[in-house]
This record gives sequence, structure tokens and C-alpha cells, in this order.
Amino acid sequence: KKVVLKHYIPDGPATESDMELVATDTLRLRLPPGSTAVLVKNLYLSCDPYMRSRMTKHDEPSYVDDLVPGTPITGYGVCKVLDSGHPDFKIGDYVWGITGWEEYSLMTSTEGLFKINHTDVPLSYYTGILGMPGFTAYVGFYEIGSPKKGERVFISAASGAVGQLVGQFAKLMGCYVVGSAGSDEKVNLLKNKFGFDEAFNYKKEPDLNKALRRCFPEGIDIYFENVGGAMLEAVLRNMRLNGRIAACGMISQYNVERPEGVNHLFAIVTKRIRMQGFIVFDHFRSYREFEEKVVQYIKEGKIVYVEDIAEGLENAPAALVGLFAGRNVGKQLVIIARE
Ligand code: NDP
Repeated sequence: KKVVLKHYIPDGPATESDMELVATDTLRLRLPPGSTAVLVKNLYLSCDPYMRSRMTKHDEPSYVDDLVPGTPITGYGVCKVLDSGHPDFKIGDYVWGITGWEEYSLMTSTEGLFKINHTDVPLSYYTGILGMPGFTAYVGFYEIGSPKKGERVFISAASGAVGQLVGQFAKLMGCYVVGSAGSDEKVNLLKNKFGFDEAFNYKKEPDLNKALRRCFPEGIDIYFENVGGAMLEAVLRNMRLNGRIAACGMISQYNVERPEGVNHLFAIVTKRIRMQGFIVFDHFRSYREFEEKVVQYIKEGKIVYVEDIAEGLENAPAALVGLFAGRNVGKQLVIIARE
């Protein structure tokens, strides 16, 4: 079985009915003789916000390719190697990388496929804390944020896959850390599980400027930007001199036909703020360094992690769509098979 995109979606939210579970052609799963392809069984699929933009047909090239209707949705996942013509991957290896929303995938290109070195932590972690979102948190916080001990850090969408880690990295560095999230349950997680100093529910406090002023009477040094729109505007008014914004994502704008303007953008100039966009794909050369560090943190109990797990391919579309309604509590993933 596989989940395919039925058709391109112009603007606005994706719905479950834009995707469909269909039978797959098993003949396609044979490894061509002499090829360097890898045949895998998909175990865990990752649901990530960027996947929405791939469901729209773009006239201009984007940083990720558009999906092709009728073919399986592709995204990050954790898989077991069933057959391999590639010297780096052996039968029985566990790997993570871009795979298909289907039970089995034939990978003709192994670029960006990582062998999983640590099978003594849950394999699902490689969709999140030890995979692309975790590495995004690492690059965005340490490389783009250039943090220093004692600095004041604000993170939006803070309880999600990326945000929960950024906050914990910042605490380990000795920063003062505040997060925003869209429910009291998530705020509670931020304060009582992930060890944030403060957190607020932005849906209950529509005056974002006031909320930020309360949490940061002296202003924000580093903003880890995940949502954009009104939150970014409010943050810009509360940034300190020489502050940094790691512009990771702007999920509030992904489904909007005409994205909101940012009226206070000029503060980037007047406050000498460095706001730098980045894409995790450009940084994978330092992935192994990240992996070793975070596996160690997990084993030492210095970092905790929350996942939101959906069961079965048939529930993958709802899990993906739920990201945009904030239905996920922690990293959203889908289990296809455990072994
Ligand atoms: P999350 O696990 O945080 O899930 C998305 C969350 O975003 C939801 O749970 C919801 O949380 C929040 N959200 C959804 N809609 C809105 C809205 N309209 N306004 C405000 N918040 C909203 O996702 P990830 O951790 O995987 O991703 C976080 C961000 O990082 C995204 O912007 C993503 O695009 C970006 N990203 C960027 C990468 C890069 O290379 N630059 C790589 C990976 C991710 P809540 O209930 O708190 O509102």
C-alpha cells in the first residue's frame, strides 16, 4: 500500500481528502541486477511542515521539489534494508533519509541516506530528535543563533519537534529560555518537562507584545523563529541590540494566500539584528558530530523528548494535516511497522 497526493492543492490548508491510500505494484520492488539501489521496508514516517508546500505546483523552482500526484508522498523516514546493491548499506541495516509513504521503497539514489549507528535508542528518534528536525534545532541554535551563556532566548512553536530541542540546548548552555505554544498542555510540557524558564499560550494571550514584554523585560537576544506573521512582528519590537534571529520557519504563513506583511521589519536595521535564513540540507556534513553529542545527552538524561505517534499508513494524511492545526503534542510521526 502507498499514500499518494491526489492532485495539486492551490492555496489554503491541505486536507486528508487531498491524499489517498492505494494498492501498490509489488513488481517495482525488485532490485535491478547490478544496480546500487537499496530496497527498504519503511518503519517510521516523519510528518513535517515543509511537506505542505510540496503539494502546490510552483512556477519557480523551490528549495524542495513539488510532489507528483499519483506517486507516493515522499518525506523523511526510518527504514530497514531488505536488499542492497550499495557497498555502504547491508541487509539488516537500519537507515534514515528520504523515503516514500508506502510499505516498501526502492531507493535508486542513496544521497542523503544515513546508516543508523545507534540502535540502542528508539529507532523512531531518527524521525525527530536524531534526524532532520533535531539537526535543524542544532544548526539553527548553535550556528545561526551564535548563543552565549546567560543570553535570553525565545522560541515559537516551542513544544514541537524542533522547538523542544532548541529550548533544551539553550538551557544546557545556561541561557534564560521562554517558549510559546498553542495549548495549556503544551505550555505545561515546556515548563515542567523540557525545563523552560517561562512559557505562554499565544492563543490565550492575543496581545503578543505584552506577553513578550512580561517574559523579557530586558528584551530578547535570540529568537528561534518557527511561526512568522504576528509573532515575528511582536518579537521584532522586543529584540535587544545586536540580537539574532534564526529564521527557521514561518508555519503561520504556509497556508495563507497572501502572507502578512511585517511592519516592524525595519527594526532589523535599527537594532543591528542579524536575521539569517537557513536550510538544514546545506549542513549535513556535520550531522555525525550532532548525532554523537545528542545520543550522549539522551543517554545521560540531559535531554528528554516527546513524540506524538500515529499508527498505520492510513492515518498518515490526518497526522500531516494535524500539524497545521497544532494537533500534535511533540514530534509527529507515523508507525508503519516495528521491525
Ligand atoms: P512542530 O512539531 O512544531 O509542529 C508544527 C506546530 O506549529 C504545531 O504543532 C503548532 O503548534 C504550530 N502551528 C501550526 N500552525 C500555526 C499557526 N498558524 N500559528 C502559530 N503556530 C502554528 O513542527 P516542526 O518542529 O517540525 O517545525 C517547526 C518549524 O521549523 C516549522 O516552521 C518548520 O517549517 C521549520 N523547519 C525548518 C527547517 C529548515 O531547514 N529551515 C527544517 C525543519 C523544520 P502550537 O500548538 O504551538 O501552535
